[in-house]
Amino acid sequence: MKRIVVFSGAGLSAESGIPTFRDSDGLWEQHRIEDVASPDGWQRDPELVLDFYGKRFQKMNLVQPNAAHYALAELQKKFDVINITQNIDTLLEQAGAKNVWHLHGRLDTAKCEFHHEIFGYQPTHRCDFKTLISKPIALGDTCPKCGGRLRPDVVWFGESVDMRQPYLEELIDTASVFIGVGTSAQVYPAAGLLTLFADTEQKYFIDPNPAYGALYGFSVLEGKASVKLPELAKQLLGSAN
Ligand code: NAD
Repeated sequence: MKRIVVFSGAGLSAESGIPTFRDSDGLWEQHRIEDVASPDGWQRDPELVLDFYGKRFQKMNLVQPNAAHYALAELQKKFDVINITQNIDTLLEQAGAKNVWHLHGRLDTAKCEFHHEIFGYQPTHRCDFKTLISKPIALGDTCPKCGGRLRPDVVWFGESVDMRQPYLEELIDTASVFIGVGTSAQVYPAAGLLTLFADTEQKYFIDPNPAYGALYGFSVLEGKASVKLPELAKQLLGSAN
């Protein structure tokens, strides 16, 4: 079975009603990034940070996956699909995507500030974490294992991203198709994936305002993910043997 690696950003979920970063002047839902997505912001005002992610979690549960998420799930019928996403929402999983790697963490889990163990929220059936906690974190919630403070399981600006070597190298060596979608390719090291997959046989980049282009050997499909991904999925599924 051929392998497809998909690298997605906030544009994938935009049409579900979750705003991107760049489309709102570097603010995230009216907040400065430094206030809600940095270790300093967390130390300064943990209540604001928890409220911010709590609201994002609630919003995620009110919206639905769009045609782009479903197209990626559909590709699994004939391909081994690995989704590497910068998104912290779980719309890919809700659409039925099986293999999702959240580079920047996810909204339905919490992390112990002290020993970094991850806990899933109940009733989040989409999590397979062994230890569950009963609700999104509130101020004062502590790790059930060690008593450390619980914090959002999100990789903030200034924190390191686990690039999962050597798994990533295996993906680079074995992917036949690479699709970049809905990302401004400005947040590193994630954006570096676009060059790391440079030798992949077929490479596509989907975005209405593509930051990445033909210059790098991508077939650029300019447009919305909800239109371009289903079209591309149909083409790939049609040509699969
Ligand atoms: P970004 O906001 O920097 O860029 C969004 C990209 O999506 C832009 O290139 C834009 O042209 C494109 N876009 C807008 N509408 C689109 C559509 N309908 N179809 C396809 N593309 C569309 O997002 P980023 O590159 O992912 O980086 C932002 C960081 O912010 C990420 O690290 C992520 O963790 C975080 N973030 C996540 C979410 C989410 O989980 N849904 C939302 C906002 C921000």
